Amino acid sequence: MKFSFAPHTIYFKRPFKISHGMRTSTPIVITQLECDGVIGYGEASLPPYLVETQESVFVFLNRASKLLALYKTPDKLEEIIKQVDLLAPFNTAAKASVDIALHDLYGKLHNIPCWKMFNADKNATPNTSFTFGIDTPEILKNKVEETREYKILKIKLNGEDDKLTINTIRSVTDKPIAIDVNQGWKNKFEALKMIEWLENKNVLFVEQPLPKENIEDAFWLFQNSPLPIFADEAIQRYSDIESIKHCYDGINIKFMKCGGMFEAHRMIERARELNLKILLGCMSETSCAISAAAQLSPLINYADLDGSLLIKNDLFDGVRFVNGKIMLDDLPGIGAFQKV
Ligand code: MG
Repeated sequence: MKFSFAPHTIYFKRPFKISHGMRTSTPIVITQLECDGVIGYGEASLPPYLVETQESVFVFLNRASKLLALYKTPDKLEEIIKQVDLLAPFNTAAKASVDIALHDLYGKLHNIPCWKMFNADKNATPNTSFTFGIDTPEILKNKVEETREYKILKIKLNGEDDKLTINTIRSVTDKPIAIDVNQGWKNKFEALKMIEWLENKNVLFVEQPLPKENIEDAFWLFQNSPLPIFADEAIQRYSDIESIKHCYDGINIKFMKCGGMFEAHRMIERARELNLKILLGCMSETSCAISAAAQLSPLINYADLDGSLLIKNDLFDGVRFVNGKIMLDDLPGIGAFQKV
């Protein structure tokens, strides 16, 4: 599909799936925004467990193209992004694809890297964690070996065989680990017992231990836990921060949840004011969206930006990782290039 109007042109790439190996894949949509012959790239990643689909992204982008046609350049960046947000509720991945493309385009037209647009120090980037899914001890041990260059591991737990998983990891490495439970622990007392067991095992924090709806249990666990507790599923957008700020030590911000770079930056600023720790995470994404997220990484405490490292058919070259550390350069925009 191609939608043209002067001077912007918005192209929607054909539906594409990024693959994680033999069996699993994630649908994405790459958005291109053109102005004066310069192209800004954006991406919507659509994991099957969320509500957006490639079709819903196309419907949203169709609406967005009509709005963007009213602007001659992306110079009124903030105004355009706010207007895009008002086009329809939800659709945050679709909104993120427009937001990222707008930032990339603006940066390229003004020859400025996005990290500079957000007053970030390009040398202050964190290490990304590398994520381990739930697997057999044998596979987990192999993965520790394969990911030696990464300094932080993110381990998924689900309430089954959790101690075996951690003991397996700890039998082969003493690296710091982040725990992500994805709401998998159902009882707050058992959750606390497990966290107390994890306390002296070099664990940085525990992400979303309980179901997101259980605000009271989250508050109880936050008060009693010896380890920091981070919200992921319990926080989507800026407007959610106030309702959960007393129940967590930190928040996991993702572009696909919040609508992109502009809102993620607002969330970072608000979280800092509230003394909340900040994790910047991702879905399965190509180096397009990951490079965009990397631009904000100097402003946060922890990065979990391994999305492009876990796929086999990346469409972009972009941010590099050196021994797990995110490397930013002086390229304008998000610093990602479509592979030829
Ligand atoms: Mg999570």
